[in-house]
Amino acid sequence: MSSSPSTPRKAFRVVIDENMCQGIGYCERTCPSVFTVDKERLMAVVKIPIVDDPTLLEQVELAEQTCPTRAIALIPVDES
Ligand code: SF4
Repeated sequence: MSSSPSTPRKAFRVVIDENMCQGIGYCERTCPSVFTVDKERLMAVVKIPIVDDPTLLEQVELAEQTCPTRAIALIPVDES
């Protein structure tokens, strides 16, 4: 019956696989706070490498799921 205790915030490192990314830009449209596309290199660039804000994380997860080349990885960060 007790409400959930304060759970630690999850944090994830956002990584782009440069061999997979084709600079299509879905990630930038889905989450412009975290992703931008380098137009010269046609490559996504991560502006915020570690994300722990829940709202931002939702957007980053959506970008990960909708990247056509599966170039985005989210790696859990151990915040001990
Ligand atoms: S959506 Fe995927 S392929 Fe397109 S720029 Fe972003 S990471 Fe690269």
